[in-house]
Amino acid sequence: MDKYLERLKNGTLKLYALEKEVPAPEAIRIRRAFIEEEAGVQLPKLGSFTMDPTNAVKRNIENMVGAVQVPVGVAGPLKVKGEYADGFYYVPLATTEGALVASVNRGCGAVTRSGGAEVRILRNGMTRAPVFSTRDILHSRAVKDFIDGNRDTLAAAAAETTSHGELTGAMAFVTGTTVHVRLEFDTKDAMGMNMVTIASERIADLIEEKTGAHLVALSGNLCTDKKPAAVNGILGRGKSVVAGVRIPDGLVSEIFKTDPATLAEVNYRKNLLGSARAGSLGFNAHAANVIAAVFIACGQDPAHVVEGSGTFTTVEKQEGGVYVAVTIPALQLGTVGGGTGLDTQRECLSILGVAGGGTPPGAQAKKFAEIVAAAVLAGELSLLGALGAGHLARAHRALGRGKPGGGSQSPGGRGK
Ligand code: NAP
Repeated sequence: MDKYLERLKNGTLKLYALEKEVPAPEAIRIRRAFIEEEAGVQLPKLGSFTMDPTNAVKRNIENMVGAVQVPVGVAGPLKVKGEYADGFYYVPLATTEGALVASVNRGCGAVTRSGGAEVRILRNGMTRAPVFSTRDILHSRAVKDFIDGNRDTLAAAAAETTSHGELTGAMAFVTGTTVHVRLEFDTKDAMGMNMVTIASERIADLIEEKTGAHLVALSGNLCTDKKPAAVNGILGRGKSVVAGVRIPDGLVSEIFKTDPATLAEVNYRKNLLGSARAGSLGFNAHAANVIAAVFIACGQDPAHVVEGSGTFTTVEKQEGGVYVAVTIPALQLGTVGGGTGLDTQRECLSILGVAGGGTPPGAQAKKFAEIVAAAVLAGELSLLGALGAGHLARAHRALGRGKPGGGSQSPGGRGK
């Protein structure tokens, strides 16, 4: 240990190069000891974890010094009636926000007692949009014509880089002497960002070669990855999913202590009008909360919560009850690749029965997407109910302010 610490200090060994000299667990210990000395702190908890670091340093993290733990709770059972997910599920949620799990749990109860959430996937396609420069607008038009007329050639180029990914769309956006090509792929059970980036590079090379356009950047931001963007809401990105449930009058009053008309009004004035006045791209109460918690638990890329937050929540009073739905245009997730192989995250996926690839490929990620959409529905319902009943701050007082074992019977009033 000391000889490596000395070399790190005198600059003859780089922090990132430790794994080249010693096995990953040892490299992590040395790096942590170095940081402890540099920062003048002790990090025993950061260094105490159960995941296999050898796996993690290969594909998930550089300069690893330890692991942060986030508590995981479950909400459920949640009845889901999808085309891929059909049954009762306990949804793992990783969060430090007291009252969140209790709130979603209450929503799950309402959904399940109402017969379950119907869920359907409307669209499926992960995107990457390389950007090219051209000589003039005639050249731009020629590039667009090439994209429009050579889909099979582009797909064949992509297929050389992946056995699972398939090019399903290519849309050219011309802006003067700039052409963005929004490439869309079916990435099967992978969320697919690495997969589509590698495939897009091959396609971009082909476009350069065949059209003479110059590739400026492999990602031209019309993808749009990890930024709030209307294009994802309009065209979709990842899985576009819709989930809905009809809740009878009696259950609304029993569970939420309010009534369908109030739920609909809260949704209209808050989620729709309030979001419109705010210029928001998301018309929901707290979809990001549920998506973030599931994503962290299940090894997804948490930055994609940005796109998930563009969810639309709708509430309609109907004969004998209320129909509540969430429409999620851009839900990026996977059951293989990325962080899904980390030990604890994989265990969380296994709670839902969605760890690993599906049969046929793609079915597992779709099942996962349907469960997440149903969980978002449960979260929306619970918060709308709490707001409708005027329980805005009560649950936070009870559950988010350090009351030990705050209990899950709370109405889950939350103020998002
Ligand atoms: P990945 O782990 O890079 O690739 C998925 C792998 O799984 C591929 O090698 C694929 O093989 C294989 N695979 C095995 N069974 C599969 C199945 N049933 N369905 C689909 N693929 C299967 O993961 P990724 O999903 O492409 O990328 C996720 C990672 O990208 C995350 O860590 C995320 O943080 C990161 N990310 C990257 C970018 C970027 O610009 N590169 C942007 C955002 C996020 P084949 O391809 O050979 O078929």
